[in-house]
Order: sequence, then C-alpha cells, then structure tokens
Amino acid sequence: MSCEDLRQTQLERLQATLNRVYRNVSFYRRRFKEINFRPEDDFTDVQDIERLPFTTSRDVSDCYPYEMFAVPLREVVRVHASSGSTTNPRVVGYTRQDLRTWSNLVARILSSGGVIQDDVIQIAFGYGLLTGGLGIHYGAERIGASVLPTSVGRTERQIKIMQDFRTTVLVCTPSYALVIAERMESMGFSPKNLSLKHCICAGEPWTEQMRKDIEDRLYVKATDNYGITEVIGPGIAGECLEQRGMHIQEDHFYAEVIDPETCRVLGHGETGELVLTTLTKEAFPVIRYRTGDLCSIMDEPCACGRTMRRLTRIGGRCDEVIVIKGINIIPDRIGDILEGIKGERPVFQLVAVRKDHQDQLEIRVEVTEQLFYDKMLEQRSLVDFMSKKIANFIGITPKVKLVERGSLQREGDRVKPFLDHRFGE
Ligand SMILES: [Zn+2]
Repeated sequence: MSCEDLRQTQLERLQATLNRVYRNVSFYRRRFKEINFRPEDDFTDVQDIERLPFTTSRDVSDCYPYEMFAVPLREVVRVHASSGSTTNPRVVGYTRQDLRTWSNLVARILSSGGVIQDDVIQIAFGYGLLTGGLGIHYGAERIGASVLPTSVGRTERQIKIMQDFRTTVLVCTPSYALVIAERMESMGFSPKNLSLKHCICAGEPWTEQMRKDIEDRLYVKATDNYGITEVIGPGIAGECLEQRGMHIQEDHFYAEVIDPETCRVLGHGETGELVLTTLTKEAFPVIRYRTGDLCSIMDEPCACGRTMRRLTRIGGRCDEVIVIKGINIIPDRIGDILEGIKGERPVFQLVAVRKDHQDQLEIRVEVTEQLFYDKMLEQRSLVDFMSKKIANFIGITPKVKLVERGSLQREGDRVKPFLDHRFGE
C-alpha cells in the first residue's frame, strides 16, 4: 500500500470510528463533549486526533465489564479479558466481523514470520480469557496451517508432540522457548531431530541475546510480535524475516509515540510510550489507548518491501505497572496489602528476577521493630503470611525477603518502587 493510500484509508476509518464511539459509547461522548469536539465537524485530518484525550487502562477497568462496548451485547460473539491484579479486569468484546478481521491480522503476522499453509503449528500459549492462544489459533487456521492447540505447560509432552506430530512452527513466550530448549538438553534430546523451522515469540519483553539463544538451541528462526488485549490481542505488529522491527498493521491501527511525562507526540525514532487507536474494530474500539509500552517507530523502508512502518523492540514499561507472568502488578497496591498486615506501611521494593527462564517476583521489605522478631520461627511465619496474603491478591506467589533498614536502593530519599533484574542487574 502506498503512503498516500494508507493515509486516506486511515482518515476514512478514523472518521468512522470516531463517529461510532461518539454515538454509541457514553465514555467517549462525555470525553469529546468536554473538549467541544464533534467528530463530524472537527475531524478533517488524521492529525486532528492529537486534540483528543488519551484512554488509559484505568478507564477500561472503570468501565467494567461492558460499558465501553460500542455494540449491544447480542452482537458480541466473543469476550476476552486481561488480568487486573487489584483493579477490575479489562474486558473486551468482538463481533463476528471483528473475529474475521482479527484472524486476517494474525494470519498476516504469522506469514510475515514465515508460516505457510503446509506448516504444523504448535500453539503453546494459554487458551482462555487472555487473547494469546485463541488469537493466534484462528490466524493460523486462516492461513490453512495444521494447528496443534497444546496450550502452556507439561513441557515433556510438548516435546513429544513436537517430535511425533512433526511440528514446524512453535508459538510461545520467548522464556518458554528457552525452557523447552533446556528440557530437551537435559533429556539428551537433539532438536536437530525435529522438523521445527520457526518460533513465533510474544507475550513478554525479551532481548536480542534471548533470540540468539532460541535460534541456536532450537535451530529455528525466531520472530517477535506485538499484541495487547485492550487493542485487539496478537495481530497489531509483527516482524518479517528481516528481523528488524515489527511492521505495524497501519491500515487497522493508528500508532503514535508520546513522551509519557508531558504527553507530547514524538517524532520518528524517538523513544516513548506507544499509543494506539483502532481503525476497524466494531465491538470495542479504543481511541488513543496508552499501552504503557516503551518503543519507537522506524520510518525507513524495510528490505522485505512492506511499506508499513515498524516498531522497535518493546524496551519495558513506562508506568509503574509491572508485568510478571502476564499479570499486571501495581507497587502501590502491594504497599496497601503490606500495610494491612501490621497497620504500618513498611518501606519495600519489588524486584523482578528471572531464574531458569521463569520470571519471579521478589518483595524486599525493610525491617522495623514491628516487623522484627527474635525468634527465627516467628519471623519465618510472618514472611510466609505476607507472601500468602499477597499471592491471594495478585495470583502469583512472591518471595518475600526482610532486609536491613536503609538497605534498599534509593533515588534521592525515595526508595525505587521497582527494579527489573530480568535482563541482568
Ligand atoms: Zn520487513
């Protein structure tokens, strides 16, 4: 698609989307009215979108469950949700047409990562309310590949299926690809005996080093792709075999990068927070959704010939929401839970660590008189209690460590709420 055609398509689709949300979603109508914006009169150029307010994950949680839907529930044929740890989950819906669009978008991404009709594709993503499993599934069927919906876990069984069913494409998180590689090595099994050619990775931030590891150990070509439930799920952007950034499907999504502090729209190549607007979704359109993901947009043409611009690798999260094992964790809420235990808010810090390719949450709490016991046993049971209490709330069990007063890393006089050690200290 030429740049001019794309611009025209984006304009028309944006116009239709803005009209639709103005008519059908009270949340957006209220927002637009606050700034005196009538899509019919005030939207004449793509850039006019910069006048509109952002939508945040908080807004979506507050509209739980169906308030942001732009169609009546009877037209919705699928519902997904992303985990909220302490807020309401963010619930999204799809019409029949949305599911068709979604399958096509995922099919495009899979084929740019090398998947063809002859492939046997093993989807080791969780199937359920999260969008990963079913999203990829329908895209792979759309291509006509043979789909093995193995879901996550039971690694030895995954490996047996991979061998016996002659899997050619593996879809999973990059860390799970490494878990599989490691298990093969410990079983004395050579991946050379497999038919595997491609690994399509998504679901968590990863590095070039991890890509190299996956490629060397599984004898595959590994590509990156980007999706977020609130916007559609997988299918937003994906790498081609050049492996240099993820082509954004700009005929379906309008992408901006902003400075997360000032909210100023940044230019090509500048790193900031990715903001996405859907152009074709019916049931759950989003306008200027702040993804919280840090990246930049590359404008240079790609050797593969695709004209859609590319996203760089996601370099982390810009707000203080931490994503561990697909669960969003807000440090402040952890503070609330800890405060509830002894009635005072301890000084604490969350640390994400990666052990044996698995992400873990560590919570370091500075001891105080209230949190200090002479007896090891009592100390131990307090730590266990904290860990259980937090696990109940967020859904994963953290490792709680009591540390000396004043020992946590500080910025000025403030303890940094979060350290990410998943990619080294
Ligand atoms: Zn390309």
